[in-house]
Amino acid sequence: MARVLAIDIGGTKLAAALVDETGSMLRSATRPTPRTDVMVALAALIEEVTGDGPAPEAVGIGCAGPLDLAAGTVSPVNMPSWRGFPLRDEVRALTGLPTMLAGDAQCMALGEHWLGAGRGSSSLLGIVVSTGIGGGLVIDGVPLLGPNGNAGHVGHMTIDPYGERCECGGRGCVEHYSSGPNLARWALANGWTPGRPDGLDGPADARNGAADARALARDAAGGDPVAVAAFERGARALAGMIASTAAAVELTKVVIGGGVSAAGPVLFDPLARALDDVAGLAFVRAVKVEPTTLGVRAGLAGAAKLAWSQSRTAA
Ligand SMILES: [Zn+2]
Repeated sequence: MARVLAIDIGGTKLAAALVDETGSMLRSATRPTPRTDVMVALAALIEEVTGDGPAPEAVGIGCAGPLDLAAGTVSPVNMPSWRGFPLRDEVRALTGLPTMLAGDAQCMALGEHWLGAGRGSSSLLGIVVSTGIGGGLVIDGVPLLGPNGNAGHVGHMTIDPYGERCECGGRGCVEHYSSGPNLARWALANGWTPGRPDGLDGPADARNGAADARALARDAAGGDPVAVAAFERGARALAGMIASTAAAVELTKVVIGGGVSAAGPVLFDPLARALDDVAGLAFVRAVKVEPTTLGVRAGLAGAAKLAWSQSRTAA
C-alpha cells in the first residue's frame, strides 16, 4: 500500500509517521528536539520510521515558524540553531523524495480539515493556542499558505490598536491576551494564587503545581473568580480575532487546538458568549467554533495531506 512520510517539527518535540491514503498512521515515532544538531536527530527519526519498509512516495513537513516557503527555509523561534535553515532541501537530499513544507499551525488546520473537526468545511480556520498562538486557513479544501508561508498568522492580528506592546513588536495582538503564558501572567497580576492540585491548603509551589495555564484552567473550573476572569478576557480577544477573520474570508468553521484548548468549557463557553456579542453580520455570526478532535496528531495528519498532494497517487 502506498504511503507518505509526515514530519512535525516543534521547539520541544520532533515527530514522524508513515501515513496511508486514508490517513491511518502505520508507524510513528517522536523524540525531543535537541538544542543543536537537529538534522542529525531528524535523520535518525526518519530512519526509525522508514527503515525496513517500502519507501514512502513523498514527504510533508510541518515546522514551527517563521519560515520562507519560497526559499524552503525555516527559522523557528524556539530553535536558535536553525536560522534560515534550508529544511526542505536537506530533507529532499536525505530522502530523495518530493518534499513539501508548511507551517506547523497550517498543517494542524489541514489535518483537522482532512480527518478532524474541520471535515467538509469550505472555509476553515485552525488555531493553536499554546505558548503562542498560531493559525492556518484551508479554503475550498486547499491550504492558504501565502507567498512566503506566513498566511494564517492570526496570533498577531491586532484586537486593540491602543493595547499593550506585543513581543512581535506590534500592539494589541491577540497572542498578548490569549496565549497560555499571557493568561497566567494577567491572572497573577490580578491576584490569582494558584490552588494546589492535591486539594490541600496553602499556595502551589514547585512541588505541587506551577502557575501556568493548566493550573489556571483547573482553578477556573473550580470557580476561582480571577481565573474565570482571565479566561473570559482571553476568550474575548480570541472572539475579536475570529470575528475579524470570519468577516475577511467568510469562515464557516473554526477548530481550536493546542494545550490551552484542553481547558474545555472554561475557554469555549465564554468564547461563545463573546462571539455572540462581538459578531454582527449574519455570515460572521454563523461561524461554528469547535475544539480539535485530532489533538497533537493534527499536525502530522496535515503534513501527510501536504505530501499526498505532491505524490503520484494523490489521496
Ligand atoms: Zn504580536
